[in-house]
Amino acid sequence: MTRVRIFDTTLRDGEQTPGVSLSPEQKVEIAAALDGLGVDAIEAGFPVVSDGEARAVRAVCAEGLSAEICGLARTERGDIDAAADAGLGYVHAFIATSDIHLEHKLRISRDAAVEKAVAAVEYAKSRGLRVEFSAEDATRTDAGFLARIFGEVARAGADRVDIPDTVGYSTPAHMAEMVRGAAEATGGLPVSVHCHDDFGLAVANAVSGVQAGAACAHVTVNGIGERAGNASLEEFAMALQCLRFGEAYETGIVPARIYEASRLVSRLAGVQVQPNKAIVGENAFGHESGIHTHGVLSNPLTYEPISPELVGRTRRLQVGKHAGIHGMNAMLEEYGIRPDREQSRLILEKVKEAGDRGAHVTDVELLSMAGDVMRDGGAAGSIVRLEGFSVSTGIGTMPYAFVRLDIDGKRFSATDYGVGPVDASLNAVQKIIGRASRIRIGDYGLASISGGSGASCEVTVRVEDEKGGSVSAKSVGEDIVTTSVKAVIDGINRIMLKRAVGPGAGPGRPPA
Ligand code: MN
Repeated sequence: MTRVRIFDTTLRDGEQTPGVSLSPEQKVEIAAALDGLGVDAIEAGFPVVSDGEARAVRAVCAEGLSAEICGLARTERGDIDAAADAGLGYVHAFIATSDIHLEHKLRISRDAAVEKAVAAVEYAKSRGLRVEFSAEDATRTDAGFLARIFGEVARAGADRVDIPDTVGYSTPAHMAEMVRGAAEATGGLPVSVHCHDDFGLAVANAVSGVQAGAACAHVTVNGIGERAGNASLEEFAMALQCLRFGEAYETGIVPARIYEASRLVSRLAGVQVQPNKAIVGENAFGHESGIHTHGVLSNPLTYEPISPELVGRTRRLQVGKHAGIHGMNAMLEEYGIRPDREQSRLILEKVKEAGDRGAHVTDVELLSMAGDVMRDGGAAGSIVRLEGFSVSTGIGTMPYAFVRLDIDGKRFSATDYGVGPVDASLNAVQKIIGRASRIRIGDYGLASISGGSGASCEVTVRVEDEKGGSVSAKSVGEDIVTTSVKAVIDGINRIMLKRAVGPGAGPGRPPA
């Protein structure tokens, strides 16, 4: 087994994602999660950029985590001092080495770059720091010059060298060649690879670098980072662990904590994960097509390369026009609903009709369809629809909400006050629902998931019935109040349908 080092730069390169800025408290929270996830090193920030950044790095250092804590520095004394003063024992010092950067950004000669690099490494060592030296834009740097500067910094005492593919310009074969070159130029120092995803090759390049002998990869949770982002921690670690390369690799990553870390970073950084993102995307373990769902239900290995539980997730089945009877029944089974053959056929017909209209069939709608079909057999299902809603809030006035719901074709409306607009709205909903049923809104959680005033929010609620049953529901939207009301209505539907068509269905049905 070859042990591969994971250098996480979510808090530095990840934070350089446009629009992302983390407070010191948020950095500490993410650092603790990364430590629990098992990364070997955490790049906590770039201490010289601001007082807040230096404070954040200092706070992460003070946590006493198992991971090595690192900070970024240019090859400038002031940057290295800022790193050491923030309490770091390990610095990631970089200078650009490609002619493009030397001519147009730094406006210095190659010789001057070597001098600065060597002086910085010597100075950092004199301050007692471990040094990882990065040749920025290495993959567009002249190979002979790169070998020269790597050789010089190694002689000056650098502990590690890193090959940044700063603009994601490499291919796997090129990265392998560069890793071998760096190892040779430095007389065998550990080599890291820092890959960007501009062409979607970041993880492939990082894996190839490791196969060519790199000891370490720089990665970020969810692949966040400048432009198209960095190699993603979860994809890289799981590829090394699960794919067969001929050689076996291991990392310190605890896979079961991956999803939780992904959600935390998404929430605090305010960057949503695309649904089709490998490992952590909403659809990564989701199945809709009847053929796939049937296969997965018979044996998950048919259409899942790894089990979702391995990375802290669960499988998600969805129905739509591609649905099959097995998948649909498996979903209903989760709610304790077991239609007979004929009922299954009729429910599936409704699902496909909706799918053909281009509709997205949610769990609640599936339960409602099952309710409609099975109602003939004595079960009864209701569905609550939000018909009208308005809210008023401000200063010097009590927040006030009006809500109108349609329940089984009957209209109900209520108004209520609250401590804020969300509270007022939920009180009004509760007033209507509570008239005929003892459904209660339990936990309520709100998270902002992107920055700016056009931010999206994610609301999760738990809805409970009088028998102690509970369901949770989630809604994402741009308006906090509307999203909250939708989440609650969804939760109410789930719990009412669950008990209406589920086992023990009967009395206790909602308002009629
Ligand atoms: Mn970078």
